[in-house]
Amino acid sequence: MNLRDRLVALIVAQGPLPISTFMDICLHDPAAGYYAKRPRLGERGDFITAPHISQMFGELLGVWAIAVWERLGRPPRIHLIEMGPGDGTMIGDVLRAGRAAPRFLGACDVCMVETSGPLKAAQQAALTQAPAPVRWVGDLAEAPTEGPFILFANEFLDCLPIKQHVRVGGAWRERLVGVDAAGALCFQLAPPCVLPLPAGCPAAPDGSVLEGSNTLVAFGATIGGAVARAGGAALFIDYGRDRPGFGDTLQAMRGHAREHPLTSPGEADLTAHVDFPAFLDAACKAGAAISPIRTQGEFLRSLGIEARSARLAQLHPDAEARIGRQLARLVDPEQMGSLFKAACLHSPWLSPPGFDGDP
Ligand code: SAH
Repeated sequence: MNLRDRLVALIVAQGPLPISTFMDICLHDPAAGYYAKRPRLGERGDFITAPHISQMFGELLGVWAIAVWERLGRPPRIHLIEMGPGDGTMIGDVLRAGRAAPRFLGACDVCMVETSGPLKAAQQAALTQAPAPVRWVGDLAEAPTEGPFILFANEFLDCLPIKQHVRVGGAWRERLVGVDAAGALCFQLAPPCVLPLPAGCPAAPDGSVLEGSNTLVAFGATIGGAVARAGGAALFIDYGRDRPGFGDTLQAMRGHAREHPLTSPGEADLTAHVDFPAFLDAACKAGAAISPIRTQGEFLRSLGIEARSARLAQLHPDAEARIGRQLARLVDPEQMGSLFKAACLHSPWLSPPGFDGDP
């Protein structure tokens, strides 16, 4: 039975599903989930991420990690943890940049947190020559966060499951995935419920959609507590909102095109914009310091992406125009530069690079 038919049978038997459960099944069902079975990243896949646009992205995160390690007092051992490392492109670029600081590289123990079998295999193939020891775990709970660590996650938080509530007739109603009379998956609304508005959220006119993710908040608390206890910094780059607000951002991507989220369960990537304020608030309550959110463009500029692209163009004059296009794609506000945000949780006494100066 394909995933759609299984979902229909489940809903008919047990009732409509919260969107969070639907997302979880579509992404991680062991037999047919998108990440469990057929993740396709990159130009020829379903979606493209910053590390695939240019090596400069991972290299600058490598420069960032070296600077964090220095500001941590150059500990002799540092755990470099990546959540959701995709095909391993980014960590490869990070470690290559790390070669500029041999003592840093010598201190690094790399830990990849990955649920997807096919992507773990791709990462292992990409890292056969890694200049530091690398291990894999399936869950953050198994990652080494007892000693100082530096954590990265690019386009990871957006795949954490969300719930949606819609304002109808002055009340909130949860949007669920049900089955219509013709036996097709459809959105439907649960009976009205009481829902506290997030702090700073304006009053909600009818039709407003409020999104929230318990998984995202729990994750913010876990990582925030760990960073406060062990020392270090955790960097999250993703598309999302930097202040509380409304909007339906659930999206399915397949072959670089958006499709309706219910069209092909398990065959498309399913994501939502990251609620950075809720995530950071949870981390802060757990004891971490948080830096003001920056746009990806501001963050990469402050790490010197313009100088890096000029240097690359000098080394590869025939690729100058391509490097210029890659730079623009990463930093221009009309492209990824302002929709994507960089957020950092860190030890209260640490001032993380990229968040402390002018762009
Ligand atoms: N960071 C990569 C890949 C982004 S795609 C890049 O920028 O190219 C999302 C990644 O998160 C994939 O590697 C996916 O398998 C992983 N992932 C999704 N949900 C996860 C979870 N709950 N725990 C760990 N990894 C997860």
